[in-house]
Amino acid sequence: MSYKKHNVKNCFIQWNNDIFPVYRNTSGSCVSQKRINRMKPILKAIIIEEYAKIRKAFQTFAKKRYNGKQIKVHIDLEKMLQRCDNIFVCKKDDIYGESDEDGIWVAKEKMNDSILLGTMLHESLHFCCTFNKQWICSSDEHQIMSMLGEIHEC
Ligand SMILES: [Zn+2]
Repeated sequence: MSYKKHNVKNCFIQWNNDIFPVYRNTSGSCVSQKRINRMKPILKAIIIEEYAKIRKAFQTFAKKRYNGKQIKVHIDLEKMLQRCDNIFVCKKDDIYGESDEDGIWVAKEKMNDSILLGTMLHESLHFCCTFNKQWICSSDEHQIMSMLGEIHEC
């Protein structure tokens, strides 16, 4: 996967076999719009290159959740990529990240690049998929994220 060989200067992110980066246990500087913007191309590359894996996780989850009943799983890839352009610094400091159908906000906290990218990916996976044209509840989305290799939730 090409995103794993990203060449963003001074940016150290590693992956195992999952789409989520390995969270490094280091401090980082405060999140800024500049740092968010720097991550956007990597985030988009993950979404594009891992689209099949992401879709599969939602499909597998839907099958289990609804005991094999026929569920229409829909992910709008274009919309997901559009939301990547709508990621902003959030003024609130009691959250790490938050999102709605159109945009994503990341807290102005100190975090290293791997956690910043992971947070952006986390929020991108909220509001990206519908089951039978209904949004999925966030706790279900969190289970799907852990299927995709996320270690902790925010
Ligand atoms: Zn979440």
